[in-house]
This record gives sequence, structure tokens and C-alpha cells, in this order.
Amino acid sequence: MFEHKGHIHIHSRYSDGGGQVKQIAAQAARAGLDFIIITDHYNLDGLYKGEEGYQSGVLVLIGMEVNQECNHYLALGVKEVVANNDGNPQVVINEVNRQQGIGIIAHPFEKGSRYYQKGRTYEWRDWSVTDFQGIEIWNYLSQFRDACTSILKSIYLIFNPVAGLSRPCSQALNTLDKLQARGQKVFAYGGSDAHGVRIKVGRLPVSISPYYLCFNLINIHILCPKPFSGDLQLDQKQVYEALSQGRSWIACDYYQSGDGFRFELHNDSKTWPIGSSVDYIANLKFSVKTPAPARVVLLHNGRHLETSQGTDHFFTNLRPGVYRVEAYLKDKFRYRPWIYSNPIWIKYNGIRH
Ligand SMILES: [Zn+2]
Ligand SMILES: [Zn+2]
Repeated sequence: MFEHKGHIHIHSRYSDGGGQVKQIAAQAARAGLDFIIITDHYNLDGLYKGEEGYQSGVLVLIGMEVNQECNHYLALGVKEVVANNDGNPQVVINEVNRQQGIGIIAHPFEKGSRYYQKGRTYEWRDWSVTDFQGIEIWNYLSQFRDACTSILKSIYLIFNPVAGLSRPCSQALNTLDKLQARGQKVFAYGGSDAHGVRIKVGRLPVSISPYYLCFNLINIHILCPKPFSGDLQLDQKQVYEALSQGRSWIACDYYQSGDGFRFELHNDSKTWPIGSSVDYIANLKFSVKTPAPARVVLLHNGRHLETSQGTDHFFTNLRPGVYRVEAYLKDKFRYRPWIYSNPIWIKYNGIRH
């Protein structure tokens, strides 16, 4: 499998972002990304204006973000504009499915800040919905905003945006864990929600969620059967297949790159990648490789099961259920949240274990 690193939640000048797609692609290239997906609000103008393809050596794909006041939904791989329906997001989900796109519930839980858009939040309100493909568990901009709890803290964060990096949203993770434990094929996604807008604090111009910085913060890494070929159609198919099958992990690449992470299931003769669903058989074991020494936590049906330190981690004595891993980097006094994998399911096959 070949690893590619990308970013799937980005706004350009086609909505409320500050940059043109070609400028954004150049920043993504500088940050070492292989692909980006532009997700402007309410439109696919980038697609209709022929912006999909390779720009600055980066594969640029165009999706969109649907809905206005609440229930924001990322629609990837769609070719027709999906109409907003804040009041009935199931209609939006169904339309993305009709177009065989990938639909992701975006930044579902937000606290907001009274110092940022007067406390506006854009949370997901309707949890009666079904048939979406995943949930955004880590959205840098959303958490940056939530962290603006006082005027001083807001000013500090504007000038030290990396200090706004915290951890994935625990409510989003819990929601996903519950769905996955029921056997639902829903996956975790993440991004920085890069807008690259410039504002003035007094007379000082500052950038909010600048593209280059965002592309060094929360990224998604995918595994594909082949390296990128340089052909839009072939490479876009690989990206969407990996994203829709959960062959991916979310990494905060800022302190340490998540390149080279692997979470795999093995038995004596076979290996299954991240995102797989496997019938229980004997001698199953997980291997986890972290690109730097880390504390790795294995979760079973959303509960911490085991931890391991180092770069090569092995877990045995596995029972049926859904498993995922979280990796933490040792900082001076604490562990920093670093990598969040998609799951591997071991399915109960009717035999008692
Ligand atoms: Zn949004
Ligand atoms: Zn957005």
C-alpha cells in the first residue's frame, strides 16, 4: 500500500476563504501534501471552473460544505451542487448518497466563543439521521474558536495559533465509537477547516487559519493500492476509495509527522489494513507502527484496552469487536494527542471464543 497525505476541509475565495485555489495548492505543495479537497460553502464553482487536477504538483479535488446555520455536512466526490437543508439534513445526506459521494458530519459539537462571531456555533443538531459516511472528529478551527474564552486568550491565540491545537473532540469520538461498536461502517475524518482570511487586530494584520499552517496541523493520511500516477481520474478514484473505506488516519503533523504510521491485523498467513472488517479466526494479532516513539492506546468497542510504548507495538488475545488506536507523543510534562486511526472490525462469527 502507498501512503498519501492530504487535507479535506478547505475554503477558498469561492466562499469565505482568503485564497484562490492555485494559491492554496501552492501552499499545500510547500507543506508536503499530496492531495487537497476544497470544500467551499454551498457551491462547486471550483469544479465547474476546471480547478480539479494537478496544481503545483498537488492533486486538487473539489467537494463542498452544505448547510448554513447548523448541521454542516462535507460532501466529497459530488458533481452537482447539493442544496442546503438545515432543517432536514437527512435530505442532504440522501442526496450525497444518490451522487455516490462521501458525506461527513462536520464539527458536530462546538461550544463557541463570545469573542468570535458573538458565540455563534455551527453544531450538528439532528442525530436521528442515518447513512452518512463519517464524522469529523478533529477540526482545528472549531477548537481554536472554542478556546477563545477571554479577550486576552483570544489575542494570545490569534498571535500563537498553534496554541489552539488541543485534541480531537471527545463527544465526536464517543458518538463514532458507539456507531462502530454496533457494526456500522462509519469512519473518522479530520482537518483544519482552513480559511486563510486576514483580519486586523488594532492596526496589525493577522491571518486566521492560514493555509500553510493549517496544512501542517491536522491532516488525513490514506493508503492506496498504487502510487499516484499524475492522472486526475485514476488518482481521484484512489483517494475517494481510501476515504470511503476508512483506509486512513488523522494526524496532528505539527510536532511530529504521522507519515509511516500503520495499524494492521494479521494471522499466520494474511494481513488486513486499517478500515478492514474480518471474520474471527484463530491467532489474530494487531501490529501498530508509529513513526516516532509514542504511547499507543488500543481501544476495543470505544474502551481503553491496552497501552504500549515505543515504535513497534503488538496486541494479541483479540476478541470480536471493533478496535482502533490512538497514539500520543511524549512532551516534557505530558502526552500530546497525535494520531487517531480508523478502526478494524473483528466480526463475531457465531462461535463462542
Ligand atoms: Zn462548517
Ligand atoms: Zn468549513
